[in-house]
Amino acid sequence: MAFEGLADRLQSTIQKIRGRGKVTEQDVKEMTREVRLALLEADVNFKVVKQLINKIKERAIGQEVMESLTPGQQVIKVVQEELTQLMGGEQSKIATAERPPTVIMMVGLQGAGKTTTTGKLANHLRKKHNRNPLLVAADVYRPAAIDQLETLGKQLSLPVFSMGTEANPVDIANEAIKKAKEEHHDYVIIDTAGRLHVDEKLMDELTQIKTDVKPAEIFLVVDAMTGQDAVNVAESFDSQLDISGVVLTKLDGDTRGGAALSIRAVTGKPIKFVGMGERTDQLEAFHPERMASRILG
Ligand code: GDP
Repeated sequence: MAFEGLADRLQSTIQKIRGRGKVTEQDVKEMTREVRLALLEADVNFKVVKQLINKIKERAIGQEVMESLTPGQQVIKVVQEELTQLMGGEQSKIATAERPPTVIMMVGLQGAGKTTTTGKLANHLRKKHNRNPLLVAADVYRPAAIDQLETLGKQLSLPVFSMGTEANPVDIANEAIKKAKEEHHDYVIIDTAGRLHVDEKLMDELTQIKTDVKPAEIFLVVDAMTGQDAVNVAESFDSQLDISGVVLTKLDGDTRGGAALSIRAVTGKPIKFVGMGERTDQLEAFHPERMASRILG
C-alpha cells in the first residue's frame, strides 16, 4: 500500500508531540527534522521537501494558541494542512465542454497504464456521473493497444471507435468526434500513442491532435512506481502540451508515494485520479485532504 513507510514514520513522530501541553521551538525543530527525513526516504523531491519544511516551521513556531487544541495538536494540524496544500488543496473535478462532446486526451509513456486508465475513466464517467462516453483507439503504434481497448470496451459494454493501425491518429481523433456528435456521446476519451521515452515525434503528434480536437482535458498517465522519473516525465509532457491533470497509476504497488507528493508541487498540475489496481473499477478520485489524513493517521 502507498505511503506505508512514510505513514509509519510520520505517525510515530507526531505521536510524540500530540499530547504536549507545551511545544518549544526545539520540539518543532526536532519534529520537522524527522518529517524531513521521512519525506526524503519516501522519495519526495528534495526541493519540495525543503519548501514544505520551511512552511511548517514558519507556521508552527510562534503561531497563535487556539483554545480548542493542545499545542501538540496544533502543530500536527499545521503539518496536515501543509501536506494537503502540497497535494493540491481542493479536489479537482473533470471539466465539461460548453458544447458536447467533452474531449479528454489520454497521454503518457508506454506501459504507464494509459489504455487501462482510458477504460477505467470511461467506466467512472458512466457509473458515477451517468455519462455516455465513446472510447477512441488512437494508439496505432502498439498494435495490441487497439485490441486491448476493444476488449475493455466489450467487458464494460462501452463502444470503442477504431480505424485499425494503418490510419493516422489525427484522422482517427477527428473521425471519432464526428461519430460522437452523430451518436450523441457526451464524452470522448482518446487513447493516444505512447513511446518508451519522451521524444519529439511523439510530442509533435500529440500537439497536432490537441490543435485539432481542442480537448477540455489532457490527462497525463504516469506510473507511480517510477518515483522521481514520474515527476520528470510529468514536467516534460506539461512543458510541451500544457496538460490539465495527472492520473497516477499503480499506487497500489508504490509503497513510498514520493511521486504523489511531488507532482503537484513540481508541475503545478493536479493529480485527478489514482489507479489502485488492474481492474476497471480500481480508479479513485484523488482527494488531497483525505490522502494527508491517511498519511498522518
Ligand atoms: P499503456 O502502454 O500505457 O497503455 O499501459 P497499459 O494500460 O497496457 O498498462 C500496462 C500494465 O500496467 C498492464 O499490465 C496494466 O494491467 C497495469 N496497470 C495499469 N494501471 C494499474 C494500476 O493502477 N495498478 C496496477 N497494479 N497495475 C496497473
